[in-house]
Amino acid sequence: MTDFSMLSSLGKIEQDVPLAQRTTLGVGGVAAWLFRPKSQSDLMQALHLIPQDLPIFPMGRGSNLLIADDGIDALVLDLGDFNTLEVNHHTLLAGAGARMSKIAQRAALSGFSGLEFMATVPGDLGGGVAMNAGAFGQQVSDTLVSILLLNRDGQLQHINRQDLNMQYRYTALPQGSVVLSATFELGEKGAEEVKQVMREMRAKRSQTQPLNLPNCGSVFKNPEGDFAARLIESVGLKGKQIGKANISDVHANFIVNQGGASCADVLGLIRLAKDTVKQEMNVELEPEVKLVGCAL
Ligand SMILES: Cc1cc2nc3c(=O)[nH]c(=O)nc-3n(C[C@H](O)[C@H](O)[C@H](O)COP(=O)(O)OP(=O)(O)OC[C@H]3O[C@@H](n4cnc5c(N)ncnc54)[C@H](O)[C@@H]3O)c2cc1C
Repeated sequence: MTDFSMLSSLGKIEQDVPLAQRTTLGVGGVAAWLFRPKSQSDLMQALHLIPQDLPIFPMGRGSNLLIADDGIDALVLDLGDFNTLEVNHHTLLAGAGARMSKIAQRAALSGFSGLEFMATVPGDLGGGVAMNAGAFGQQVSDTLVSILLLNRDGQLQHINRQDLNMQYRYTALPQGSVVLSATFELGEKGAEEVKQVMREMRAKRSQTQPLNLPNCGSVFKNPEGDFAARLIESVGLKGKQIGKANISDVHANFIVNQGGASCADVLGLIRLAKDTVKQEMNVELEPEVKLVGCAL
């Protein structure tokens, strides 16, 4: 058995950690290990102590994840203490564990525009960069300048946005790497105007999404020129239930957990929606939610 006692001086290390409550969907089994380093240098030291054959899974707020019922044989990395947030002239630097909603508020306070959408996305910065999160016509890649990355071999690397091949909900991060922080260059607009835009975005969200039940946001990416929700609704699957999970009757690209849903329930709905839309509309839907330890 792996002896991780050395890691306890570098952060908090736990074994057999239930992950469901660490996700917004509330689904998933246990992680073999969970490590929350106290600082960047602690994390760098820790990397040398973690066996190379044990996968490391960086997890933010768990707002875009479907985790297997059997859990994952990996070390989940929690960067919750990497939550620095600095604004200097038009530049905003945020740690991977900073909540995107906090980043949006901080930018708004300084009267900077470009990150308003983050007020409506319930993830941390590391997950936002990894997913190239976006909404309301904005996305991370619009204002991102560069990221600081820690590679699996323990090397730090600054990477400019241009070298990340960022696309719709996609960022090309090196295999096994961890985003530590990101720098954004923002435009000036005025604090009140920026706050008003954020208020409007939030209001729109609460009218159109099933925010009262656990979910993982959009299940599928929108195909070019269309909407996954429209396609799923038009094949008659809005409201469809498997076990304790439903295709939301508020927004057909959301799956909600009615309480006690399993990964198998959610996967069943994802497969059903994907197969039916392919058969009836000849459109290939691609999951936006990250499947962890499970597959379609
Ligand atoms: C109600 C609701 C609304 C949502 N609305 C939107 C929306 O409008 N737009 C949108 O884009 N998304 C939306 N999402 C999805 C989700 O919030 C985003 O994808 C978000 O960026 C995920 O961040 P996270 O911290 O939760 O990442 P997680 O879900 O924890 O992880 C997502 C992926 O990022 C990787 N990752 C996390 N941290 C790091 C790191 N430090 N380094 C490297 N990789 C990392 C993980 O390994 C995983 O592959 C929504 C989700 C919900 C529940």
